[in-house]
Amino acid sequence: MSDNDHTPKTIGPNTQLVRAGYDPFDYHGFINPPVVRASTVLFPDAKAMETHSQKYTYATRGTPTTDALCQAVNELEGAAGTIIVPSGLAAVTLAFLAYLGPGDHALVVDSVYGNVRHFCDTMLKRFGVEVEYYHPSIGAGIESLLKPNTRLVHLEAPGSNTFEMQDVPAIAAAAHRQGAVVTMDNTWATPLFFRPLDFGVDISIQGSTKYPAGHADILLGTVSANAAHWKRLRQANGALGICGAADDAYQVLRGLRTMGVRLERHQASALEIAQWLEDRGDVARVLHPALPSFPGHDLWKRDFKGASGVFSFVLAVARKEDFGRKAQAFLDALSLFGLGYSWGGFPSLALHVNLDERQILQAPTEGPVLRLHIGLEDVADLKADLEKGFAAAQAI
Ligand SMILES: *Cc1c(COP(=O)(O)O)cnc(C)c1O
Repeated sequence: MSDNDHTPKTIGPNTQLVRAGYDPFDYHGFINPPVVRASTVLFPDAKAMETHSQKYTYATRGTPTTDALCQAVNELEGAAGTIIVPSGLAAVTLAFLAYLGPGDHALVVDSVYGNVRHFCDTMLKRFGVEVEYYHPSIGAGIESLLKPNTRLVHLEAPGSNTFEMQDVPAIAAAAHRQGAVVTMDNTWATPLFFRPLDFGVDISIQGSTKYPAGHADILLGTVSANAAHWKRLRQANGALGICGAADDAYQVLRGLRTMGVRLERHQASALEIAQWLEDRGDVARVLHPALPSFPGHDLWKRDFKGASGVFSFVLAVARKEDFGRKAQAFLDALSLFGLGYSWGGFPSLALHVNLDERQILQAPTEGPVLRLHIGLEDVADLKADLEKGFAAAQAI
């Protein structure tokens, strides 16, 4: 945990990524911060212990390593304070636990990350919170869903797996008139391509597991709050004792230093492949916000500075009963794309999206939805790999 002053930065985003969070001369000039593995912190005397008159008191409340990451994320998000937690999922659930209580009503976008839906439908329900899902394109129309007890409105844009965009400022303004806190899962864009707090969001959530870590080897999440909501978030973090480890925080800070150049490549390669897919007869639709053909493109263009490397496409399959086996044939023919969950690391990944749990949004009818994460390989090789998938799907 760290409440550091946020001073407006006039430097460019890549300069910021290189410098944010840590001054080498805080630790003898070494470029990277030390990895402080700790539980106990010693006090020099009993009075210091009783008054907690020193910066660090116990490692659940932060260490120089976790503080360096929190401070870097504060700078990138324009936040008053940031906490780190052991996964992206924990970042969302902790934010919900911080602001919701029995009898509250929460509005959650229907394209939400699936494990968050599970948390809402099980644990939040058990704790007496009523969760209602809303259409991602609702915009200012969210007004009609707000109730006197609506305490929290959760956004995720683009939405998981199908990438629907949301009118963030319109939704935030309506939610605030009702006194609700606005939380947003910004994992797809990272603060490099979208800064939720600048658009009226109160709490910005990152699955640091994805692009910040960047190497498919770390689980971590961050929750960043504006000044009005920081105190309560910090208290919830302290009450729950859900904190990130120093080694993981170190690796994510290290990942941030190169995130700008990695994202540039993910963005360019994914867009090239998305455009190539769009021109194919065996693809029904490409779900990528940076394509002008995509329904939410105007919102993306208005508010976002870039696009990351994960998107989906709908394989054109005539009969619904063939969706599953055609999708499997496609995926099994790939060798450069791995079949696995998550994204944001250096290797490309693919999976068949399951949309069964959606309550409002309809799954595409033209064929199965396949999600691709475009990694750092050469685009020509990835296209050749996908060609094998199309051929295999065609052949059965
Ligand atoms: C992956 C993901 C998460 C969860 O991150 P983990 O670290 O894997 O728990 C949360 N939100 C979104 C949008 C994600 O894609």
